[in-house]
Amino acid sequence: MDSICPIGLQCATEISALLSPPSPLQVQKYYHDLLTARGCSGIKVKQDGNFGKGLYADMDFKEGELVLKDPMLVGAQHPLNKIDCLVCSFCFCFIGSIELQIGRRLYMQHLRANESHGCEVGSSSKHCHEMDSSDEEESTQQCTSGSSKTKVPLPEGIVESLMNGQLVLPFSEKFSLPPAVPCPGGCGEAYYCSMSCAEADWGSSHSLLCTGESSDSARREALLKFIKHANETNDIFLLAAKAISSTMLMYRKLKAVSLEEQMKHNTSCVSNHCNLSILLEAWKPISMGHKRRWWDCIALPDDVDSSDEASFRLQIKMLAFESLQLLKTAIFDKECEPLFSLEIYGNIIGMFELNNLDLVVASPVEDYFLYIDDLTYPNKEEAEKITQPVLDALGEEYSIYCEGTAFFPLQSCLNHSCCPNAKAFKREEDKDGQATIIAQRSICKGEEITISYVDEDLTFEERQASLADYGFRCRCSKCIEEEP
Ligand SMILES: [Zn+2]
Ligand SMILES: [Zn+2]
Ligand SMILES: [Zn+2]
Repeated sequence: MDSICPIGLQCATEISALLSPPSPLQVQKYYHDLLTARGCSGIKVKQDGNFGKGLYADMDFKEGELVLKDPMLVGAQHPLNKIDCLVCSFCFCFIGSIELQIGRRLYMQHLRANESHGCEVGSSSKHCHEMDSSDEEESTQQCTSGSSKTKVPLPEGIVESLMNGQLVLPFSEKFSLPPAVPCPGGCGEAYYCSMSCAEADWGSSHSLLCTGESSDSARREALLKFIKHANETNDIFLLAAKAISSTMLMYRKLKAVSLEEQMKHNTSCVSNHCNLSILLEAWKPISMGHKRRWWDCIALPDDVDSSDEASFRLQIKMLAFESLQLLKTAIFDKECEPLFSLEIYGNIIGMFELNNLDLVVASPVEDYFLYIDDLTYPNKEEAEKITQPVLDALGEEYSIYCEGTAFFPLQSCLNHSCCPNAKAFKREEDKDGQATIIAQRSICKGEEITISYVDEDLTFEERQASLADYGFRCRCSKCIEEEP
């Protein structure tokens, strides 16, 4: 099987070092440093032999209290969602203006209306909407950009004037957004809320993945092929590319530091060989995530018969290999060669699949229309003369959220319980891509913090069936009680 990937054979030692689980001591140190760097008190990560990592309260939490805000390690907006929401490519807050958000969406939907769109193959989107903002009614709008039956188009020119700022909607100044800063690499794909987000993204992964003029044409072409393939098959590949890029860039930074050290001590032995200890250090954040090969852990879709399971899994593996070859053509670096093996690529994707943590950010466009709706006479009537046609043009989808997939280092340590003491929930003020965990009841210092990966109201059998996709059988107190 593995003969399709020569790197897998050449770099077998490095690959197994990268994939060997970190020791409890390394885990403890990594999360201790992470929590300290973030100034985050009140929680601890502990590793125990039976259940792997877990997140524990290091203070008492009251019901409804914020337990944790967790910035992502890597994340990406779903490609289709980019039509509906213009967000910062690094922190995922909405940018531009209410008018730009609306005008841009109407414009892009119009462009799309004539195109057909394919759906994802081997998609992880079945898990969408199950974790964040679970109480929000409107969170079921993944593939909605095509439907248009209840929409009334705006008169000609209005969409353009929304986009170019000529038309200002009433009271929109109350919902001002940060300006949209285009990617300095000139790709026209990535936008940011600030130069600092642009620089942070450039330094962490985008400098390798930018398709702008600043990259050489052969690489740009290869990157575009890779991105097209991911958009047509599964956008989880884009996330994997970000994880590989950020590891490569970290490797280069750490190597530069180590060379400097060597120069100081005059022990320089410059080589272009992979320096495994540096690569392991750069890989550390990714090494903390629970991993399995994607083609082994992906849940069998309902429409695939169990007798076809082996061929389905092989097909998924070949799809990953196809994607990896395209990525390799674009950004291969001999010093980081092990990262381009199918084994590592499969495990990175598997980590995203297993930890499928949804990225959800509520839309200020929804807040805006709710505000208009709450106005009183005569302001409301006046405002609605202008806003009602806009709302009619948007149809029922005026409130589409920013959606994507991300890996959150701390949220991914939260274990499951069918009677959890916490939940992933975004409050009014949580307008960015961070995961937010709220205490669902009071939590005592020392208690493990748990969330439910599935709908808690399902029956025992249904819960166990859903949890089987995550690769475990639940033994929480509720399950032990309800087990027939
Ligand atoms: Zn930002
Ligand atoms: Zn760019
Ligand atoms: Zn349970």
